[in-house]
Amino acid sequence: MTQAIRPPKCKRCRAKAQVYLRQHNSAFCRGCFIFYFQRQAERAIAHEHMFGRDEVVLVAVSGGKDSLALWDVLIESGYQTVGMHLELGIAEYSLSSTRKTVAFAEARGQKLIRVDLGAENADVPTLAGLTRRPACAACGTAKRHHFDRVADEGGYAVLATGHNLDDEAARLLGNVMRWQQGYLAKQQPVLQPTHERFVRKVKPFYRLSEYETAVYAFLRGIDYVVEECPNSAGASQLVYKDVLNRLEAAMPGTKLTFFQEFLRTAQPLFQNAEASPPGTCQRCAMPAFGDRCSYCTLLVEVDRRRQQAESRGSGTTNPDV
Ligand code: SF4
Ligand code: ZN
Repeated sequence: MTQAIRPPKCKRCRAKAQVYLRQHNSAFCRGCFIFYFQRQAERAIAHEHMFGRDEVVLVAVSGGKDSLALWDVLIESGYQTVGMHLELGIAEYSLSSTRKTVAFAEARGQKLIRVDLGAENADVPTLAGLTRRPACAACGTAKRHHFDRVADEGGYAVLATGHNLDDEAARLLGNVMRWQQGYLAKQQPVLQPTHERFVRKVKPFYRLSEYETAVYAFLRGIDYVVEECPNSAGASQLVYKDVLNRLEAAMPGTKLTFFQEFLRTAQPLFQNAEASPPGTCQRCAMPAFGDRCSYCTLLVEVDRRRQQAESRGSGTTNPDV
């Protein structure tokens, strides 16, 4: 006699489940999953003392599922938020990211600060091309600089990013593979400022997986940019994510245990490895190790290359001229 397989029921209301979370061995219907997801984020915010309801949170929004889901959760949970979006100038990917971010903000009546890298000085392809840096290195430097700058100039107390558990576990694996003690010291869900022009940086999704975030974005009808940045192909972060996904498939819960236990047991051991606090950039007055911050170092090199090109009368931005 064959036994009928019963469809899984929602852990919370016993209705027919639509989402199954292997790592928690539990299932939820649509409404209860949204409730669960928002509550997990709120618990992380409260547990880690990320911010309170009296503070305005600057949310870094790329237009991808994680950052838009984070903004959505914070709005739904009644926090005061302002979005900030960097226009990177990476062809159609950036145009699409900006369109989705602007549409999201307008639909919810939220303030969005936009910074156009190309109009400011140089977009990511120009920064990378003229300085001969990998695109992601130039992009990361520009992002850190402008997020810190806007948070500081706007007087925001806290900057929130949509990094999820998969991001944090992959970053941890990368840091462990190279035993980068300084990075391990800084890998925390809440990073307190180490300079008067830094603000607190928080990651409310650090315990929520990429899968959970994608399901939340889908169930909430969030229209996010689906295509990956063309520069992400071959990134080591993707290799670490792939390895962790295979471990997770064989042993559900591996990513959560890996990262949570690092925070609980190992992370405090690296506190002494933290670099001494930064000084101040003599060009832009933002935090810097040395006379110049990394972003100004890039911009000075960009200016030099442009001047070289101009003095040769070519007018081209090709660094090889
Ligand atoms: Fe920037 Fe690299 Fe991310 Fe593209 S993949 S957005 S270039 S950091
Ligand atoms: Zn600077």
